[in-house]
Amino acid sequence: MEPEWYKPFKVKVVEPIRLLSRPERERRLREAGYNVFRLRSEDVYIDLLTDSGTGAMSQAQWAALMQGDEAYAGSRSFFELQEAVRDVLGFDYLLPTHQGRGAENVLFSCLIRPGDVVPNNMHFDTTRAHVLHKGGEPVDLAIEDAYDPQSPHPFKGDMDVHKLEALLKEHGERVPFVLLTVTNNTGGGQPVSLSNIRAVSEVAHAHGVPLFLDAARFAENAYFIWEREPGYRERTIAEIVKEMFSYADGALISAKKDGLVNIGGLLALRDPELHERAVEQLILFEGFPTYGGLAGRDLAALARGLREVLDLQYLHDRVEQVRRLGERLKAKGVPIVEPVGGHAVYVDAKRFLPHLPQREFPAQALVVELYREAGVRAVELGSVAFAREDPDTGETVYPELELVRLAIPRRVYTDEHLSVVADALGAIAQRRDALRGLRLVAGSGPLRHFLARFEPLSLHGHGGSGLT
Ligand SMILES: *Cc1c(COP(=O)(O)O)cnc(C)c1O
Repeated sequence: MEPEWYKPFKVKVVEPIRLLSRPERERRLREAGYNVFRLRSEDVYIDLLTDSGTGAMSQAQWAALMQGDEAYAGSRSFFELQEAVRDVLGFDYLLPTHQGRGAENVLFSCLIRPGDVVPNNMHFDTTRAHVLHKGGEPVDLAIEDAYDPQSPHPFKGDMDVHKLEALLKEHGERVPFVLLTVTNNTGGGQPVSLSNIRAVSEVAHAHGVPLFLDAARFAENAYFIWEREPGYRERTIAEIVKEMFSYADGALISAKKDGLVNIGGLLALRDPELHERAVEQLILFEGFPTYGGLAGRDLAALARGLREVLDLQYLHDRVEQVRRLGERLKAKGVPIVEPVGGHAVYVDAKRFLPHLPQREFPAQALVVELYREAGVRAVELGSVAFAREDPDTGETVYPELELVRLAIPRRVYTDEHLSVVADALGAIAQRRDALRGLRLVAGSGPLRHFLARFEPLSLHGHGGSGLT
């Protein structure tokens, strides 16, 4: 039986926001080199750049901040967090890091040697960059449906187990571990089924290779399993989360997502020997093992967040709010990735702006237009973030998906805010043929999207004044 749904929180503290005038927004865009990462947040009306570290903490978490133990060694807050990690995730060893990529750095420093191959359903951008940084080769093995923005597959985050099997047969000794990203952020916030986690774990372990979950959104993934996977309706989110992690040898977690905190990360491990090696790296890069990269108060707030996020009412409210935005966009003729993922709606810029080739960065052009239209900040996940140079031919290889992500911060915006976003994209859809592409004028490398600068292209493809 479906539980009775209700909104499980109300607002206690408000933060003022403002909408700049259209000419002011145009000026800010020009000054930012048409890269919204370069905007000041006070110039953004509704900020959907990311759901990472942008959520609202609960009163229990704010109270926990005051009780944080700031001892350098043996902090009580560390032990609270350790207990939460054992209870919620089921891992004995915990290394706190300043954020998710800190955990990536620590684990990858221990395990990746130059020439290694790292399979994943899809690597998130910093994860990919960290694998490359250690001389590894990131390989994406998501199922075919993950690349079809219209496929209704309920678990588009799944890994293709046959491809994994083939890769392990071919490169066995060069694969230090298998990664599985839950939910698959790069592929649209799509969930991975429990049966897939189990199958990937079996295949990896049969080849003597450990499995790690890149589990920033573990609770949202568990909600989708509860909702969609046969046999899980009667289980609690806590039970599903426990089972997800039971198949893995460890987890990398950016706590800025389902940890419900503004900063923090975790590396959770089962193997005491690997833990020992990881601690050496932790001390080198992050800090003493009982605080890692965080203050005691951050550990305390995270310990609460890990437990709070398991609330089915909260997860329903969260996932349904995102889904409603997707429905509104569809009704306005905006093409989106379906089914809608857990933390964001992804607009399919290839279908939205079919007249713009990928070398003119259609998704980035749409991000720019959305800020111009309504002061809304989204993020590009397409040719700016993921185009690569073919090492043999020197030619640019464009990614399959050309997306604009509207990431929804947790417990921050109301449906009224999100209708502004839907209306703005609906208005842009009415005049989409008039949109022009962009030219990259500065920025290179796998993380260029954070710092790149662009110029609007005129009608004939030369740099010019762009839209007015
Ligand atoms: C956010 C994220 C990371 C990186 O974490 P940070 O906290 O941003 O350093 C890694 N993997 C996935 C899937 C993420 O969503």
